[in-house]
Amino acid sequence: MNTTQPDNIISILDMDTANKIAAGEVVERPASVIKELVENSIDAQATEITIEIADGGKQLIRVTDNGIGMSRDDAVICLQRHATSKIRSAEDLFAIHTLGFRGEALPSIASVARFAIITRREGVDVGTMVNCDGGEVADISDKGTPVGTSISVSELFYNVPARQKFLKTAQTELGHIVELLNRFIVSHPCVDFTLLHNDRQILRSSGSGKLEDALLTVFGRDAAEAVIPITGTYGPYTVRGFVSRPSYSKPNRAGQLFYVNQRYVRNRNMIHALDDAYRGILPQGRFPLLVAFIEVAPDLVDVNVHPTKIEVKFVKEWEVHSLLSTSIREALSSSAVAPTGDDFLPPAQHQIQRPEFAYRPQPSGVTHTSGDLTAFREALAARIQTSGDVPVTLPDDGVTNLASSEVAPVVGDMLRDVTVLAQARNMYIVAQNQHGILIIDQHVAHERILYDRLYKQGNELHVQRLMMPLTLNLSHREAMVVENKLSDLQSLGFEIEPFGKDAFVVRGVPALVAERNYEQVIRDTIEELTDLTLAKRLVVQRDSIITTTACKMAVKAGDRLSLDEMSRLVSDLRKTSNPYLCPHGRPIVVSLSNRELDKMFGRI
Ligand code: ADP
Ligand code: MG
Repeated sequence: MNTTQPDNIISILDMDTANKIAAGEVVERPASVIKELVENSIDAQATEITIEIADGGKQLIRVTDNGIGMSRDDAVICLQRHATSKIRSAEDLFAIHTLGFRGEALPSIASVARFAIITRREGVDVGTMVNCDGGEVADISDKGTPVGTSISVSELFYNVPARQKFLKTAQTELGHIVELLNRFIVSHPCVDFTLLHNDRQILRSSGSGKLEDALLTVFGRDAAEAVIPITGTYGPYTVRGFVSRPSYSKPNRAGQLFYVNQRYVRNRNMIHALDDAYRGILPQGRFPLLVAFIEVAPDLVDVNVHPTKIEVKFVKEWEVHSLLSTSIREALSSSAVAPTGDDFLPPAQHQIQRPEFAYRPQPSGVTHTSGDLTAFREALAARIQTSGDVPVTLPDDGVTNLASSEVAPVVGDMLRDVTVLAQARNMYIVAQNQHGILIIDQHVAHERILYDRLYKQGNELHVQRLMMPLTLNLSHREAMVVENKLSDLQSLGFEIEPFGKDAFVVRGVPALVAERNYEQVIRDTIEELTDLTLAKRLVVQRDSIITTTACKMAVKAGDRLSLDEMSRLVSDLRKTSNPYLCPHGRPIVVSLSNRELDKMFGRI
């Protein structure tokens, strides 16, 4: 029988193609080239690194360092794939102390640009220049140069037009580069970094070795002054760094820098730990600053899970989670930003979180300088002036003479010894203490109290069994959300089970909820959660369920409250973790000190 062998179809890729494929992983844009070059400079123990770029790095990138330099042979061989001085064998992979180790960056970059190395090693009289075009060494020559290395990469992607098209404007590319260098400045405060764009200096770090100086360069003074230190140890892991007090936050995560063994990384588990620590302290959509340096023996972390090593895997992810969330929480509570219990006397006034419109007592003799207080005063004055349509119900025994006080209270005291005077518009509790007048939003105050209670009940659940199980027939959308969040709802004390298509039966509710119109609370909560998940495309977390439940259970604007109820509300509010900000981030208390009031009336 005559069988024809099919043609062989597998062949080994040539070096140039292999390099271009590797470049596809490592070299995405000018910033990724700079990342690799700067890492090499740091690994070469440089203390000064200058990055010059033209046209956002698209025309030219040159990284010059004062590191150990390379011999002539090394300057040539470093352009070959898998050429590295940093590891020798696979075992070394578990003991990596350098930023690089794959030996892929230089050949990859050289394959997609025009490339030149000028370098000199200490003790060698003359330096070397190696020119390279699209990965091919074009010439090697002597070159007079200081000890260290300078690598130029020009016309990035000149031979890969498909990639070149994806480069953004010079401004955008520059933005990525600045962000990248900021991360290096923070992790390597001993290195003096300079960034020049089209010959203009864009960034310069001090190289003083002090993390504080690095933060100042990277985040600016306001932020640098708003941070408190974190430290901690858990099992084999340690962390040190800084987080911002809740009074300082950002609308995005750009100010969150995590490092493992001095390498910048992104890791969802760590972000989750950070969010956990700030839960209920920052409003939704606001993010703390964080710089965290995690140190661990190299064999307990795998940095080789991603070509650019930006992702890492820990042997025990949950230990890292505990380490971070615990040490951040400790830092926050020891600086009294999250007061707990009755006697939260802050160590220093400026360390306390004060939302814009909360009570701001001033030491006597000190005048206000902040503009936001003026705005507040005007807003309040306007409200008082329109008192025609603000029916204020003064109870018979209403205290009317306000004792003027020059003594400055501490911030934590603002809800101490409060006498409730009245309810305005069935929305606001009007009260006073020796320091001035307080206006409290009854709904958000109650929301805060309930949030804290629901949150705390965690381990010791108080579930109230319902005499008559409640059947819920939900829309398909709602049912999907409930189905999804079933275990979270159950862990909060909602005994809820599926009961046929889009239906559920509720057999028990948290005791707290049972005190109120629980059916309404459950229905409203489900509706809101559905809205959050589907309309706003948010991933609903356990925390949002608590926030939403608290909101739905709380007294509403418009509910009439007795003096007793209001007094209880205020004293409960004082015991919460944060009496000034509701879990959604709205202010709870607005205040007017005696001094401010007297000033408004021209008495002082
Ligand atoms: P890796 O950093 O993974 O070893 P690279 O391709 O980035 O691989 O670099 C290859 C080798 O070239 C390095 O291991 C190092 O020996 C040498 N090298 C690269 N850049 C420098 C530099 N700036 N100073 C001294 N040596 C360098
Ligand atoms: Mg490298």
